[in-house]
Amino acid sequence: MTLNVGNCSRCGKLYAKNNIHDVCPACVKEIDKMYENVAKYLRENRGSTIQQVSEDTEVPVKQIVRFIREGRISIMNMPNLNYPCESCGEPIREGHICENCRKKLSKDYQNLTEDEKRRQQQKQQENHVSYNIKDRLQKDRF
Ligand SMILES: [Zn+2]
Ligand SMILES: [Zn+2]
Repeated sequence: MTLNVGNCSRCGKLYAKNNIHDVCPACVKEIDKMYENVAKYLRENRGSTIQQVSEDTEVPVKQIVRFIREGRISIMNMPNLNYPCESCGEPIREGHICENCRKKLSKDYQNLTEDEKRRQQQKQQENHVSYNIKDRLQKDRF
C-alpha cells in the first residue's frame, strides 16, 4: 500500500489523502458543521437570500454556493436563493455560469476544437515528414 499524502485544499495542512475528500479530516468536520447550520437555517427560512443565510449562519457565501453545486443543498423550494454567475455576475441557481455565458463558452469551445484539429493535422504532417527522412536515412545506410 502506498501512503498518499497531500495538502488540504482548504487549510493547507498535510494529511493522508483518500479519494473521497480533497480536504483534511478536520476541515471535513468543519464543513459538515457548516452544512448542518445552513440546512437547518434554510428549513426555517425558505424565503431568504444567500446573503441573509451567510450572515445568520456565519458560513461564507462561497461555501454555501459549493453546497448548492455539490447538490447537498437543494434550492428548488427557495425562491430567493441564487448566486452570481462566475463570468458575468448574473444571478443563477445552478452550475457555475448563466445560460448566456454557457452559450458563449460553447462557441469558444467549438473554435478551440477547430484549432485543435488543425494543430493535430499539422502534427501528423510533421510526423509524416520525419518518417520519410528516417526512411531515407535507413535506405542510405544499406
Ligand atoms: Zn484542512
Ligand atoms: Zn453569466
